[in-house]
Amino acid sequence: MTLQGLALPQVPAPAGRRAGPPSAPASVHAAGRMLDSHGRAIRDLRLSLTDRCNFRCTYCMEPDVRFAAPESLLQAGDFVRVARVAAGLGVTKIRLTGGEPTLHPHLLQVIAGIRIHTACEIAITTNGATLDRPSLRAWKAAGLDRVTISLDSLRTERFTRITRSNGTPARVLAAIDDCVAEGLGPVKVNAVLVRGVNDDEAADLAALARRPGVEMRFIEWMPLDSGHAWEPDRWVSAAETRAAIERRFPLVPLAGDDPSSTARTFAFADGTPGRVGFVAPVSSPFCGACSRLRITADGMVRPCLFSTREFDLRPLLGHGASDSAVARFLVDATWTKQAGHGIHTPEFRQPDRPMSAIGG
Ligand code: SAM
Ligand code: SF4
Repeated sequence: MTLQGLALPQVPAPAGRRAGPPSAPASVHAAGRMLDSHGRAIRDLRLSLTDRCNFRCTYCMEPDVRFAAPESLLQAGDFVRVARVAAGLGVTKIRLTGGEPTLHPHLLQVIAGIRIHTACEIAITTNGATLDRPSLRAWKAAGLDRVTISLDSLRTERFTRITRSNGTPARVLAAIDDCVAEGLGPVKVNAVLVRGVNDDEAADLAALARRPGVEMRFIEWMPLDSGHAWEPDRWVSAAETRAAIERRFPLVPLAGDDPSSTARTFAFADGTPGRVGFVAPVSSPFCGACSRLRITADGMVRPCLFSTREFDLRPLLGHGASDSAVARFLVDATWTKQAGHGIHTPEFRQPDRPMSAIGG
């Protein structure tokens, strides 16, 4: 497969965008890995292929959200190149996300290019609205390993209200089954519970994990929504969610979670196969073991989901810089990674970029 014709147009960075990170120490460059100043190494790269979406989930994106200008976006070949360079610096997992990554017109080429140039595990996070068997088969053949699908409600009317779309939970459930059938599992299914909206569905959603090939994951709502509607009394903690699930399905903790993994996982105590995971960035921050780096659709390197500093890769990618210059940039940006998100500190300020423009 060729990536010719997918080169980045020569677009100057808009005024005000910070061009580059400060230099990391020479010893860090000599290590040839992406290390931060707190002793963490990057192994997990998240590429946000687009900030656009066909949903407008109430906890994520307001209907009038403004998207990045098309001419500011990275091209498929740029994503592949960054993935290749990052793999050479120790990345082993690449997640394609957004926005809604399945809207990207060259998704297949991105997957194929990453597969050709790296041995990384390739996963995608999607709302599942447009998945079909032929696309899944093509993505799998191109090198996709796993799919994560978001599903916040099993009730049609509520699903419509949350996603502000004409999608249905039945459609998403069918997409989950299709992914399992196409060998793209185990399918992780993500749900974000918001108090008074869908927090009464914890056990119903957990029951999805009792289907073969599905792992249910509950993610605490974070202050990253474009509407800035997150409030301390509206997010639902992992402990509260787990307690609600255990009223119907007692759970037992599973040993062996990777410390850098975002989820703590549990099995059903009654022996039914299946896993339920809790991602608790608000109640139990896992920043100390973070191994992630994010690249936005418009080419900004974000060392942390909550970064207020980001670094513009586009001038390098668009002006013929060498791979070693791109690698140097990634190493320098990683070195600046903050120790933690600090949500509970008085200085915390929600980043200007919403989750949908960062890549979840
Ligand atoms: N559009 C795709 C989807 O929804 O799966 C991929 C992008 S979305 C930003 C990735 C994940 O982030 C989804 O599982 C979504 O539920 C989650 N998410 C979005 N906004 C969030 C927030 N403010 N706090 C926690 N999770 C959030
Ligand atoms: Fe779109 Fe995903 Fe955000 Fe929902 S959570 S609005 S599907 S990017």
